[in-house]
Amino acid sequence: MRAFCRHILACLYVVPCLLFFLLFFHCTGNPQSTEEFKNQREQMVKWQIEARGVTDKRVLDAMRKVERHLFVPSELAAYAYADQPLPLGYNQTISQPYIVAYMTEALKLNPGSKVLEIGTGSGYQAAVLGEICDSVFTIEIVNELGNKAKSLLKVLRYDNVFVKIGDGYKGWPEYAPFDAIIVTCAPTHVPEPLKEQLVEGGKMIIPVGETNYQQLILMIKKKGRLIQQAVLPVRFVPMVDKDKNKY
Ligand code: SAH
Repeated sequence: MRAFCRHILACLYVVPCLLFFLLFFHCTGNPQSTEEFKNQREQMVKWQIEARGVTDKRVLDAMRKVERHLFVPSELAAYAYADQPLPLGYNQTISQPYIVAYMTEALKLNPGSKVLEIGTGSGYQAAVLGEICDSVFTIEIVNELGNKAKSLLKVLRYDNVFVKIGDGYKGWPEYAPFDAIIVTCAPTHVPEPLKEQLVEGGKMIIPVGETNYQQLILMIKKKGRLIQQAVLPVRFVPMVDKDKNKY
């Protein structure tokens, strides 16, 4: 009888402990994989970004910090830190990590900068900017992508990133002028409203060209005029209007 009671008492102790651990790992995810993703981020920064010449410490720190695997579709999380763009659904892609770092560094941002991004996509580039700047205004034309990015950025507490669903060709005049503008979809020409919404002395980086081939153009506004320089050949998805016509 005493052995039976001991058995029952042992069960009363063991079962809740087991349940607790099961629940704990269910809620926190696999701790090893979080560590593994962190290592992959370190490798990504070292071999894809620093090795190609990006040196801005704040950009490198942001790339080390933002969990890119949370921004890609879950079935592609294993490839989140690979040296390539990835599909986001709706025929859109998240840029290669190096391009995100390169474009961010080119803008020479500081903690007080107010930035406009056109093409929110997954929200990843916006999160990287949010780590570095005072505020980020980002516009996405595909409803579903914009809403998904908005929720994720809220969960991750990027309270300085503001997402709007709309046509980024027109910019966001209510919050203009911007210290910097980053465009992550490609028009065939630089949108006039974006030129106007850039502050004097501000920088814009934008891919310009046809569907399969564009030049990344870095511009600086001096005495009201834009001085431009082609910096890299790239391939971004086209900038489109609400009827999906290319700009
Ligand atoms: N910066 C994103 C990737 C952008 S992919 C990231 O970090 O994930 C390019 C995005 O631009 C797509 O989501 C596409 O829907 C969007 N886009 C295309 N034309 C647009 C427009 N006129 N205004 C706003 N977004 C646009």
